[in-house]
Amino acid sequence: MIHGKTPDAWCARHPLIRELVALRETAWFNPGIAPVASALADVGLGAADVAEASARLQRFAPYLAKVFPETAAAGGIIESGIVPVPVLQRRLLDEAGLADSGTLWLKTDNELPISGSIKARGGIHEVLKHAEDLALQAGLIRPGDDYAALDSAEARAFFSQYRIAVGSTGNLGLSIGIMSARLGFQAIVHMSADARQWKKNKLRASGVTVIEYASDYSVAVEQGRRQAEADPACYFVDDENSPHLFLGYAVAAERLAQQFERAGVLVEAEHPLFVYLPCGVGGGPGGVAFGLKLAFGDAVHCIFAEPTHSPCMLLGVYTGLHDAVSVQDFGIDNVTAADGLAVGRPSGFVGRAMQRLIDGYYTVTDEELYRLLDIAWQEEQVRLEPSALAGVPGMVRVLRDRDYLQRIGATPEKLANATHLVWGTGGSMVPEAEFAAYLDKGRSLQHPSA
Ligand SMILES: *Cc1c(COP(=O)(O)O)cnc(C)c1O
Repeated sequence: MIHGKTPDAWCARHPLIRELVALRETAWFNPGIAPVASALADVGLGAADVAEASARLQRFAPYLAKVFPETAAAGGIIESGIVPVPVLQRRLLDEAGLADSGTLWLKTDNELPISGSIKARGGIHEVLKHAEDLALQAGLIRPGDDYAALDSAEARAFFSQYRIAVGSTGNLGLSIGIMSARLGFQAIVHMSADARQWKKNKLRASGVTVIEYASDYSVAVEQGRRQAEADPACYFVDDENSPHLFLGYAVAAERLAQQFERAGVLVEAEHPLFVYLPCGVGGGPGGVAFGLKLAFGDAVHCIFAEPTHSPCMLLGVYTGLHDAVSVQDFGIDNVTAADGLAVGRPSGFVGRAMQRLIDGYYTVTDEELYRLLDIAWQEEQVRLEPSALAGVPGMVRVLRDRDYLQRIGATPEKLANATHLVWGTGGSMVPEAEFAAYLDKGRSLQHPSA
């Protein structure tokens, strides 16, 4: 029984569950979406909160530029670029038998400095927030100071009295661990069984304590949370519920708006923007989507992408059960090559706060992620890890769904003017041998006709 009903009873009222359980690729466009004018209030956070997170990242920029030289050229601001991917677009539309329409772009968060994934946004913001709170309280820095001063033996000795812990499938651990250790904190990362070995090695080499679990993400988080609760000097980064992670991700949108403006890409009602975001627990894509809604209003349409083996957010929002249900409850195994998305139970905070602001959700098989990984490399020379490919099929899924397009008023004229943005969430730090193995796998899965 699942919340008082048999699986069959759930499927009778929610027929899409059968597709999820059968691990078939599925899309669901939520008929319950609402304009930002009414739905933004659901979130309980606003533009002022995002502005505060943005200002904090600005305050820390001189420090980051100093301790992470790879950020110096950008003045210590951790940001990625946008690139058009016309060859990939043609390939995807050709394969799907769709006429050319709109323009496909890639957001290259795979290239983000420090940790090579979207987690360099939220994860690093939350560590900096905690460090700032502690340092201000202790008088180590005062408001208005140059935070580059935190690159000192005195500051590191101060932070070394404190611990920062997190549960992760890999990339969040990298961001939190590397940033915390650099400031001087004792960093502890609780890693799920999905985590890649190279991510654990990289963390240990950075002085981080890695605790490994044989079970999945939810267990790693739960264990981490419990250990941290018993330790007053330990701050736990709660990936399932954290507003500070969420706001760190949200800052991406105001910067994206500037990038589109510089590139001459117009986003407004007649020139809609569709954004495809790989989703694990939901904090990353949820926070980015929140920022996008603040920046572009109803002109932006956000769509989440999940592996067929881990469709936790789709299941939670579709059934209305949110974090009260896991994919395992329905017999779905949460075992996927997309380690960054290997999450069986969604964030209840994100699912509830964002459900009227996210247009839809779809699933992708692991085989398709590998195949697209090879295509993205061959056609556009972009280096992505399996999770980061989940957004790539989004454009085709949207263009194929006439009901959805009609519901949002996406006429052929508007679609001709549309921008489609795939959020490339990670991959630049994948070791060469591992990436070569991914490519081999992808090549072996190409359709015979391709
Ligand atoms: C973590 C991660 C995501 C999804 O972020 P969530 O906050 O878990 O939803 C997507 N892609 C990659 C590569 C990730 O590491």
